[in-house]
Amino acid sequence: MIYFDNAATSFPKPPQATAAVLECITAWCGNPGRGAHDLSRRAAEKIYEVREQLSSFLGVGAPERVVFLQSTTMALNASLKGLLKSGDHILCSELEHNAVLRPLYALKKKGVTFDTFPVLGRTNNEIVQEIATRIKKNTTAVVCLHASNVCSLSLPLPEIGAFCKSRGLRFIVDAAQSAGHFPLDLRAMHIDALAVPGHKGLYGIPGCGILALGEGVTLAPLIEGGSGVDSGSHTMPEALPEHLEAGTLPVPAIASLNGGLRFIGDIGIPEVQKRARGLFLAAKDRLESLDGYEIYEKDTPGAVLLFNRRGIPSTTLARLLDKAGICVRAGLHCAPLAHKALATPEGGAVRLSFGLFNTREELDSLWHALKHAFP
Ligand code: PMP
Repeated sequence: MIYFDNAATSFPKPPQATAAVLECITAWCGNPGRGAHDLSRRAAEKIYEVREQLSSFLGVGAPERVVFLQSTTMALNASLKGLLKSGDHILCSELEHNAVLRPLYALKKKGVTFDTFPVLGRTNNEIVQEIATRIKKNTTAVVCLHASNVCSLSLPLPEIGAFCKSRGLRFIVDAAQSAGHFPLDLRAMHIDALAVPGHKGLYGIPGCGILALGEGVTLAPLIEGGSGVDSGSHTMPEALPEHLEAGTLPVPAIASLNGGLRFIGDIGIPEVQKRARGLFLAAKDRLESLDGYEIYEKDTPGAVLLFNRRGIPSTTLARLLDKAGICVRAGLHCAPLAHKALATPEGGAVRLSFGLFNTREELDSLWHALKHAFP
């Protein structure tokens, strides 16, 4: 099997991550903060260690402001619903995923309005200008992804963050496709709320998302429940991270991040980017050597390559590749506005998304499969 669907979740997981999970569930997986015994204490210590690792990896500056939730989606919901109120206006990019768009559509029913700003074909300064011209009196925030899940475009976070700071706007970032692929620094980029998946570029197992908050940023909790502290109170504790972490944490998934972060740390972000670009360019060469293929945003090499064979629905193409043992994703990739902006056909396109275990030989197999399917 050849796996080109790393934007959905990275696969396989590195030995560091699987070993960390095994150690967790066999040696110390008590419920942190929920027991007067050693297993609970050890679990709490191990979780804190991962908070520290993430705080330093993401430039947060305080492990307490690293909050564990179930997913990036949950972290984005918590940020948007916790920061916006009726009457507020927010701007988002034209490339956003439904993890941002659907909470915004839901918030619309509660009196929050939003507009999108274009990014395709714009320079970094032009993107900031596009944001600036859409600011209204009641604009309180900007939300955008760092890297697209549909093509290899990324947005200039330092510039957008500096602009938001200068205008007193909250800055919410969806790092679903960038954490582990691009350097991230919450403080230097003036980010107020950063949503990160554990199971993609950080090479952890599914089950855990991270919400990293800027200094002084307070959110109303998305859900309430047990926190292990102050059980007599009717409300969630005020202090982070407990304020936002209701219910038992996904301890094995958090443990896997310890291994995933070491794996990424040993390789280093520049090398991760070099390998993704190399695979993108090799895939592009192979597709261009065949007739009838369209590649979208082909001049921005990175971990995601979007393509179509003209006249063939993307789902048909993906099914053919699946039969040849090649895993890709077809359709709209939960990002309908991004597909509209890229002008893909109604049925979307086929996405190849690369990870650290992919090879050029696998791209040769892709080429052979396509050549065989359409001689
Ligand atoms: N944003 C983007 C850009 C994504 O690609 C994804 C995952 N496809 C998400 C948000 C949501 O991530 P998760 O499914 O891990 O919550």
